[in-house]
Amino acid sequence: MGGRPEALWPLFGDLEGLPGIGARTARLFAQIGAKRPRDLILTLPQGGIDRTPVASLRAVVPPAVATVEVTVLRHLPPRSRGAPARVIVEDAGTTFQLVWFHARGDRLAKLLPPGARRLVSGRVELFDGVLQMVHPDHVLAPEAAAGLPAFEPVYPLTEGLTSRAVARAVAAALERAPALPEWIDPALKAREGWPSWRAALEAAHAPRGPADLSPAAPARARLAYDELFAHQLTLALARAVERRGKGRPSAGDGRLRARVEAMLPYRLTGAQRRALDEIAADMARPHRMNRLLQGDVGAGKTVVAFLALLIAVEAGGQGVLMAPTEILARQHAEGLAPLAAAAGVRLELLTGRDKGAERRRKLAALADGGIDILVGTHAVFQKDVAFADLRLAVIDEQHRFGVAQRMELGQKGGGADVLVMTATPIPRSLALANYGDMDLSLIDEKPPGRTPVATAAVPVARIGEVVEHLRAAIAEGRQAYWVCPLVEESEAVDLAAASDRFGRLRAALGEGVVGLVHGQMPPSEKDAAMARFVAGETKVLVATTVIEVGVNVPNASIMVIEEAQGFGLAQLHQLRGRVGRGAARSTCLLLYTPPLTESAERRLQILRETEDGFRIAEEDLALRGAGDLLGTAQSGLPRFRIADIERQAGLMATAQADARRLLGDDPGLHGPRGQAARLLLWLMEQDRAFRLMSVG
Ligand code: ADP
Ligand code: MG
Repeated sequence: MGGRPEALWPLFGDLEGLPGIGARTARLFAQIGAKRPRDLILTLPQGGIDRTPVASLRAVVPPAVATVEVTVLRHLPPRSRGAPARVIVEDAGTTFQLVWFHARGDRLAKLLPPGARRLVSGRVELFDGVLQMVHPDHVLAPEAAAGLPAFEPVYPLTEGLTSRAVARAVAAALERAPALPEWIDPALKAREGWPSWRAALEAAHAPRGPADLSPAAPARARLAYDELFAHQLTLALARAVERRGKGRPSAGDGRLRARVEAMLPYRLTGAQRRALDEIAADMARPHRMNRLLQGDVGAGKTVVAFLALLIAVEAGGQGVLMAPTEILARQHAEGLAPLAAAAGVRLELLTGRDKGAERRRKLAALADGGIDILVGTHAVFQKDVAFADLRLAVIDEQHRFGVAQRMELGQKGGGADVLVMTATPIPRSLALANYGDMDLSLIDEKPPGRTPVATAAVPVARIGEVVEHLRAAIAEGRQAYWVCPLVEESEAVDLAAASDRFGRLRAALGEGVVGLVHGQMPPSEKDAAMARFVAGETKVLVATTVIEVGVNVPNASIMVIEEAQGFGLAQLHQLRGRVGRGAARSTCLLLYTPPLTESAERRLQILRETEDGFRIAEEDLALRGAGDLLGTAQSGLPRFRIADIERQAGLMATAQADARRLLGDDPGLHGPRGQAARLLLWLMEQDRAFRLMSVG
């Protein structure tokens, strides 16, 4: 691959090489994220100030920034220590004062000799009835006025660094920016009316008005696209490498699927069918599948995953389904066992709790093909777990795993196809940014016959009524979850709150009626508590958020969430998704402690308004911002200087399609556009791309 191309060297030197920048200033620039000329040119103005001159301040309503030509009348030195120096000036229609605190009189005298004409620009205010401009931003001789742009860009600043200093440094850095060959698809560029890279930089740093600062301005949109395209190109390279990996076609004959479908008490929805067809087609191809299955809570992802696993078995291989928690793995295994039995498929559960002889027996069966489908926690990916012929790995409720683990899984699976399921929908922009190397299947329709969940926000002062409501519901044979607050990132504190609530509810509703599960319980107790709830022995299950993900108890029709204001929107939606699964009318009560912050109020409001997980995901993104949504640390979410993931999802989608197309046409990036794209990757420091290219 070689090193960074020579054309880009001037942009990757030290800032100190630029005129007027010494070690001290360089450190200041580092604070605004600019360590090299390359960073500077990609640091775009955040705003702008209109410096168009007016004839007189008479027409200006203070406070406002104004620019006006004046004649200097006279100087009024400070009347006492600490008082400001004033210079009286006159424009075409009025007189006013220029004001400086701590100014040196000789400097002012030189800058503004009485009788001279000057162009002054700055913030005009009325102070004690006197019109004044304090510390003008600009004082120029009329001959020099051309140096002041009518619209002055404003850059991100830090203490000690003025916008003008940044502008000067940017101008110097821009001089080092070479013209580069075009990496954008010419048709796209023409359609969008985008300038070349070099021209876009010039224009973005020289806005002519507020419209030029908009992300939609052609220059800015192009530069944003460059970032997104570089990112998507890297993901597309990863995808190409993954697909080129020794994948194998797995095409089943449909016999097992037919048997299982015949047993289901329902028909697949159109969306489930579509997703399954996409998965089947992908598995039948020789490359390795890397696919994300998105669907709302309760959309019926599990059965789609199971049918996909059957394809692997029909093709003569094995499949594995990995769940994020023990409870969920167990529930999947139990729920799928009758279907597997009917199809004559051997299904086993493997978790961290399997020890000794039992574990050895399962591992041996896996290795010699005596198990067709393995369900488990991440224990299924430990080193000593070997499959005879693993063809499909399904990861349920992916957000618990994180990107790094997904990569690891890819390694472990050898040539196995990978299907990842998200717990709740991810906004389109995040799916593109974070899972852009994957293909996407959507289940955008819920099974028919679901009754909406009545959702209400209730102040905690009315908890007594809620308990009475529960008592009545239990008497009718209904069941309820009671989720305890996420007090802190500490299991111990959560636990204390849950135990306390458990005690109170037991006292109120009766000994045997209330159960408790939490993350720190010994596994066997946890199972037992879950089992009693599933069997309907206990009517109310008090839980920390261990139940958040995936648990399916159709008879449970009430969800109480304590301190709901402390939960994220997606989490609340996911929790609420635990009810509304049976035919009974369901209720979700969001107990909160007032006063609510604006954002908490909005979250509860959205939940009352909609059960559409796709919409909730978008709202969540708008409320919380991209970094927060997936948890920045584990998300590996890219950081862009110019592009805005949340608002430019459309551009991101275009970038993804274009990147995949370019790699399809020119896998090695050797053609003219491919070569240009390499420059872009260098410019955007997509080191991972080059590692991938050396693999591919
Ligand atoms: P999720 O997508 O949240 O994982 P599940 O797979 O747990 O959803 O499915 C939720 C419930 O819907 C389960 O009880 C399942 O049996 C049921 N279900 C799945 N598909 C259908 C369908 N097509 N029609 C009716 N019920 C369905
Ligand atoms: Mg599920």
